[in-house]
Amino acid sequence: MTDQMPAIGDDGVFDYIIVGAGSAGCVLANRLSADPAIRVLLLEAGPPDRYPWIHIPVGYFKTMHNPRTDWCLKTEPDPGLGGRRLAWPRGRVLGGSSSINGLLYIRGQSADYDQWRQLGCEGWSYADVLPYFRRAEHNERGEDAFHGGDGPLYVSDMRVRRDVSDAFIDAAAAIGIPRNSDFNGAQQEGAGYFQLTARNGRRCSAAVAYLNPVRHRRNLVIVTGAQAERLVMTDRRATGLIYRGANGRRYAQARSEILLAAGAVHSPHLLMLSGIGPGARLTKAGIGVCHDLPGVGENLQDHLQARLVYASTRPTLNDEVNNPLLKIKIGLEYLLFRRGPMTMGASQVCIFARSAPGLDLPDIQFHIQPLSSDSPGEGLHHYSAFTASVCQLRPESRGHLETTSPDPFTNPAIHPNYLATETDCATMIAGMRLGRRLAATPPLAGFVKGELSPGPEIVSDDELLDAARRTATTIYHPVGTCKMGHDDLAVTDPRLRVHGVAGLRVVDASVMPTLVSGNTNAPTIMIAEKAADMILADRRPAAGLDPRQ
Ligand SMILES: Cc1cc2nc3c(=O)[nH]c(=O)nc-3n(C[C@H](O)[C@H](O)[C@H](O)COP(=O)(O)OP(=O)(O)OC[C@H]3O[C@@H](n4cnc5c(N)ncnc54)[C@H](O)[C@@H]3O)c2cc1C
Repeated sequence: MTDQMPAIGDDGVFDYIIVGAGSAGCVLANRLSADPAIRVLLLEAGPPDRYPWIHIPVGYFKTMHNPRTDWCLKTEPDPGLGGRRLAWPRGRVLGGSSSINGLLYIRGQSADYDQWRQLGCEGWSYADVLPYFRRAEHNERGEDAFHGGDGPLYVSDMRVRRDVSDAFIDAAAAIGIPRNSDFNGAQQEGAGYFQLTARNGRRCSAAVAYLNPVRHRRNLVIVTGAQAERLVMTDRRATGLIYRGANGRRYAQARSEILLAAGAVHSPHLLMLSGIGPGARLTKAGIGVCHDLPGVGENLQDHLQARLVYASTRPTLNDEVNNPLLKIKIGLEYLLFRRGPMTMGASQVCIFARSAPGLDLPDIQFHIQPLSSDSPGEGLHHYSAFTASVCQLRPESRGHLETTSPDPFTNPAIHPNYLATETDCATMIAGMRLGRRLAATPPLAGFVKGELSPGPEIVSDDELLDAARRTATTIYHPVGTCKMGHDDLAVTDPRLRVHGVAGLRVVDASVMPTLVSGNTNAPTIMIAEKAADMILADRRPAAGLDPRQ
């Protein structure tokens, strides 16, 4: 079967077409275009990353939920959350979610990757992926066995500290959770300050790290405001795609491969819009089936955060930000020294802990903020308070995405299916209880005036779980919707080639077979670093096409 060639603007032929300039897409564009003989087209639905708040770490609170930079997706009513719908921010701008994320640099546990290998993903054990984490990284602490010193992605220490954040680390130590100054080194467990993907107090997004240094390359064409609508298939080979940009609908042809890096929501969506996905669902949506691939959009996993908010006996960042004079001081501190609260990112302190004594590895993560708000990204409370959010690291619950219409501009229906297993519910309850235990432990106890959320009246396990169902939100780590592997639900093989379709790979957070035990930006960048090597290793000029064209 050959798709009818559309009578629309023709952009010509590229070796590789990358869809999505997010965490993964920017890496691919950089690495693949390093060879001047390889022509690369990078398409991004969102605008260039000129909005100034993108580049200031605290701007995180301005770019999320902002249609200028965020797709502003919403989930379907979720049964595990009492039928609530959640806002699901996803970056829609050059740099993708790495331009709007919380800057927290975490890789997960070595066991996560060893599990991927055990699941049949050859080449993805921790020993296999560590070199790619190191290759990506420029850690300001310098190079060592775990860290890179001269990669494109700048990683730096927190430039602001607060007493209450220190008190969390001390309280953790008091109950046997070790201090940890490097969550990405020999051991993840412990409490300490996050490192950030930042350079000299400014955000280091994937676009800043990987695109800015190579924009001048003549063999790299970057088109923003260009949303891919669907792939063009020739028999079972992806040979081109149609996108809508400033100049209307355009067609671009791929000589070697099309690389979907549109993220965990939009990569499976684009496959389904192109007729690659669960046959019955596609038919129901009015989309012709090109290749029945049941796993597309399945296996959705995310971290769900329950937030404990405490009224504080001492001023917190809420008081600084709500005081006009102190706010000016914060601004000046940033302008003059690139220090202070504006450099903070989404959270300050991280705790990886075990929710029960018998566990081998941490199964929960706390994000500690010396501030509070009704929900992440909203204005700060007008009283002194701080927040400890807790999430389960490896949820068992699985959701799915469903493309419901052939219209490429209708977003897919998102069914996260949170808190759907007993283990997930029990871990959430245990995590909230551990948060309370920390709050009751000196020196943190001295900061606590009272628990505002979920509140002291919430006591039993059922009440805690009910509170989580009423108030918990995403911590923005959806993955797994085009998982790699060999089983019936696998969408790609371990070289990230889509099963049953030639000339097509998925390279982004959606290929993770299981959610890593931590934040997902660094793992996604690692995936793209490794993918670039695999793509170049597999590269063979297509027959009959002049490679210099
Ligand atoms: C608010 C928020 C906070 C987060 N905080 C952290 C954090 O602190 N630390 C951390 O490690 N992780 C964090 N994450 C998660 C992390 O940023 C993501 O997991 C990671 O960026 C995903 O990378 P990706 O390449 O898979 O997708 P993305 O970076 O989302 O890139 C996908 C790109 O594809 C584009 N696109 C989509 N569809 C199309 C189409 N049809 N045509 C053209 N372009 C398209 C999108 O606009 C986007 O630019 C956060 C995420 C969010 C949203």
